[in-house]
Amino acid sequence: MSFNKLPLEPLYEKIEELKPKFIERLSKAVSIKSVSGDESLRPNVVEMSAFLVNELTNLGFEDIQLKDLGIQPPPVNDPELRLPPIVLGRYGNDSKKKTVLVYGHYDVQPASKEDGWSTEPFELVQVEDILYGRGSTDDKGPVMGWLNVIQAHRELGWELPVNLLVCFEGMEESGSLGLDDLIAKEAKNYFKNVDTVCISDNYWLGTTKPVLTYGLRGCNYYQIAINGPGADLHSGVFGGCVAEPMTDLIKIMSQLVDGKGKILIPGVYDMVAPVTEEENSLYDDIDFSVEELNAASGSNTALHQTKQDILKHRWRFPSLSLHGIEGAFSGGGAKTVIPAKVIGKFSIRTVPDIDSGKLDELVINYINKLFKDLSSPNTIKAELIHDGNYWVSNPFNDSFTAALYATQHVWNMKPDFTREGGSIPITLTFEQQLGTDVLLLPMGRGDDGAHSINEKLNIPNYINGCKTLGSYLHYYGKFESNK
Ligand SMILES: [Zn+2]
Repeated sequence: MSFNKLPLEPLYEKIEELKPKFIERLSKAVSIKSVSGDESLRPNVVEMSAFLVNELTNLGFEDIQLKDLGIQPPPVNDPELRLPPIVLGRYGNDSKKKTVLVYGHYDVQPASKEDGWSTEPFELVQVEDILYGRGSTDDKGPVMGWLNVIQAHRELGWELPVNLLVCFEGMEESGSLGLDDLIAKEAKNYFKNVDTVCISDNYWLGTTKPVLTYGLRGCNYYQIAINGPGADLHSGVFGGCVAEPMTDLIKIMSQLVDGKGKILIPGVYDMVAPVTEEENSLYDDIDFSVEELNAASGSNTALHQTKQDILKHRWRFPSLSLHGIEGAFSGGGAKTVIPAKVIGKFSIRTVPDIDSGKLDELVINYINKLFKDLSSPNTIKAELIHDGNYWVSNPFNDSFTAALYATQHVWNMKPDFTREGGSIPITLTFEQQLGTDVLLLPMGRGDDGAHSINEKLNIPNYINGCKTLGSYLHYYGKFESNK
């Protein structure tokens, strides 16, 4: 299907007309302090789920369910603390239409005026065409966006071109506890006929050009524990007489990655999928520069000088970062301790086609070999402490193509196809459990400050974002069902 504009102008006009109502809806949502990481605010998180149920009910959603996830596992202060429910809802159930599942989260990061906010964080404050408030962009704006799309259709008397399922969770900012299990449980039930999943919970790369996101790196986190003396020692007494764990650890950690960012563990790059020509072409148009990287890092420390190289190293090549050493002296001053045990921490950001298990084997064997070569009397234990896989989708599939057309229609420009260097684990869970594609279709800009002070959403992003979400459903509905 090639890009032929669908007659969506009435929808866009209706969305413009409803702008004050949509801002009011977001304002109500922001005023509920649904901070999932603060136990004392748990009732507010639950209140936010009730707010959503009320909205969904008024908008004519059916089969609305609050999925109880039970007690929050430790560590918690209150052992009886219950997890906030997952809100499910369904709009339309026509077997002739395709079914789109949208995911969003209704919890937010903590925020208080003392952190340096210029306005009250839990009050949506409009300054010119910007809406400030905790959750405005992450992720209450996009969640309200889906509701706004339905309202606009109802007021126009338009049928929705697809069946829409919503899945809104209240623990995203706190590890999405319970969500994986719920998705697995509902894969063959509530989510049975889902054709594709759309998540609006990330951001544009910059501030002027919309993006569609098709990949996320994974992360394998390792530690190397080196044990020596029975207790911390004084270097004046023992220096020169005992094998020091820190000396061994530094030798090993210095051989994991070089100063140019190249991973020194043999075999890692052999597993990385080659860059195809089609993929390569996606990088040329992307709105990004070395200056933006320098601005974001607050320095002139870029390792690569072209936009293509920077983005590839951020998104589609692996990287290794050294994070810290537990047990080492790290304060000010000149303490003359010989630490008895030190634990070095590092992680590798993973990409297709790195096999996570094979990577662990390469990493741990390499470290053990380096240690053996030291002939040290100390002992070592290298292990994986956490991993999350990468995700990559086909940016040329029906769902991405529909989002491309929707963006072109609303914004009058082609979106950039981006990946992200970090991970959103839930993306992979949906893909694997439901066996469908996942599209990341962000609403906000790269400078929205999602987890930081003065979080904001520009009104053009909110309103055009609603148009884009709505248009996406219309373009996607035009593709032949592959069920
Ligand atoms: Zn989010």
